[in-house]
Amino acid sequence: MGLVCRWYSLHQTFSFASRGRVITVNTARMAELVLVVEDEAHVRELVSYTLQGAGYRVQAVSNGGAALESAHRAPPDLVVLDIRLPDLDGWEVCRRLRAESDVPILIMTALADDESLVKGLRLGADDYVAKPFSPMVLAARVQALLRRAASPKVQSRLIELHGLTLDLASAEVRRGDSVVHLTPTEFRLLAALARRPGQVVSPGELMRIAQGYEVAERDAQEIVKVHVRHLRHKIEPQVDRPRYVLTVRGMGYMLNRKQLVDSGV
Ligand code: CA
Repeated sequence: MGLVCRWYSLHQTFSFASRGRVITVNTARMAELVLVVEDEAHVRELVSYTLQGAGYRVQAVSNGGAALESAHRAPPDLVVLDIRLPDLDGWEVCRRLRAESDVPILIMTALADDESLVKGLRLGADDYVAKPFSPMVLAARVQALLRRAASPKVQSRLIELHGLTLDLASAEVRRGDSVVHLTPTEFRLLAALARRPGQVVSPGELMRIAQGYEVAERDAQEIVKVHVRHLRHKIEPQVDRPRYVLTVRGMGYMLNRKQLVDSGV
């Protein structure tokens, strides 16, 4: 793989180089627990080693049952989840984890076709890496997901729509008096649209905002489509006639400006 890792404990940075690119991760504040679920020992070890080197605590297990048990015993900050597992498959683990928490889930799969990807996202996964992947990519994805999950809540701001309120400070969405439970990715997509009401945002741009990195436009379209579908099921009174998040065919998505209570936002 041509990967070179350097670990500087003094400066609390972790650098890795691959094909001439060097990425340095500042680990000064990283002590998050990552649950790694993978039955193949050498992949499990590689992932664990990579993430430990990047400053995370790692709990590694080899099957779905152990993953759920571990997640109950010591709730992780992020789950790296293989799909082909000997007992419960990764889809089922993903579904059960998502039923209980919003923990970011990164799927690792050799089944890197669109159908698998879309299935994973439908079940509530936040992102995926296709096997074989480079440790650099994996560490960067984990860091991006965790950074988003823990981003400082400094922008105290309410965006009020007719029937829906977004609190950008607490990442809370309310429909009437009820809290709407969105995954971190769904919230970020909605917030990205709500910050620029009436403007069309492309799937690629939404992915950059919501996920923190670039993905191919075609992949972005698929991924965002699935997240928007989830989002609509949670916030729209009529999913097939969206009131808030509008599709602008061939271009992207837009928050319906007419739904703003305070059009000065
Ligand atoms: Ca496997």
